[in-house]
Amino acid sequence: MHTKLLSWYEKHGRHDLPWRNTSDVYHVYVSEVMLQQTQVKRVLEEYYFQFLERFPTLETLASAPLDDVFSLWSGLGYYRRARNLHATAQLCAPALPTTSKELLALPGIGRYTASAICSFGYNQKISVVDTNIARVLTRYLGLRDPKEKELWSAADSLLHPKEVRSHNLALMDLGSLVCLPKNPLCDMCPLLFGCKAKENLHLFTKTTSKEYIDQDLYFGIYRKKEKLAFRKSREGMYKDMLELPRIEFQESGYIGTFKHSVTKYRLSISLYELEEEPLDVEYISLYEIERAPISSMTKKALTLYLKR
Ligand code: SF4
Repeated sequence: MHTKLLSWYEKHGRHDLPWRNTSDVYHVYVSEVMLQQTQVKRVLEEYYFQFLERFPTLETLASAPLDDVFSLWSGLGYYRRARNLHATAQLCAPALPTTSKELLALPGIGRYTASAICSFGYNQKISVVDTNIARVLTRYLGLRDPKEKELWSAADSLLHPKEVRSHNLALMDLGSLVCLPKNPLCDMCPLLFGCKAKENLHLFTKTTSKEYIDQDLYFGIYRKKEKLAFRKSREGMYKDMLELPRIEFQESGYIGTFKHSVTKYRLSISLYELEEEPLDVEYISLYEIERAPISSMTKKALTLYLKR
């Protein structure tokens, strides 16, 4: 199994990803956090290099204001990740700890991220289980609804004795490129021979679709000369970011509605232009707000307002 997997990886693996070609553990850490909920392509094209150009070291990240971090994160979503990155930098600068146990004690670092940093950053002998690897292990070993603990033990038991880093990356790429969630490409798989799922694939292929929560939200546009009112969000996924003031449904001043999906929420967002001055807001020009920490939802709202 090891030989076939590694030779497949050598030919087909994603070797050119920048975080696989760095010895800087901080860069590996940033990539892992960005990739937690975001596609590789998007991270590569819009965020990874820009973030590292502005915060090239853990120290520069630690000394930056949180708002600057949010600004660079804008549009990537799941802003708690940015807050945790910043908090971790402040706790650890100038360097991240070198053991999984110490890493696990840091904000936002779970077992996967700690193991990934140890394996891909420090080249330690440790297994890694993300959703792609979990799917390959489940199918290859014919596990039925395995618990997380079982998957980590399976990963440990299959770990290559020497080529640990390449083995983990190979499993990850196999899950991402071949052992696909819905239609796995078994004919192209280096593990086909020993795979326990190949005869009964339907038992190992999820068909259930994600469940969404529909929600209506209302935001107000309050204008003072060339500036608009913004309020710092105090909680939720946009905590500490600037957003338009949330309001109740209005009878007048309607501007328009747009759809926005974030995590499991499918939001229908309506905008109203209102005059009565709201409490607890700051007025910011559109030029300044472009550089401030705002979410992609707020950006969409501003685009709608400006188009009108
Ligand atoms: S043979 Fe098919 S199901 Fe088994 S690990 Fe390979 S791609 Fe996945």
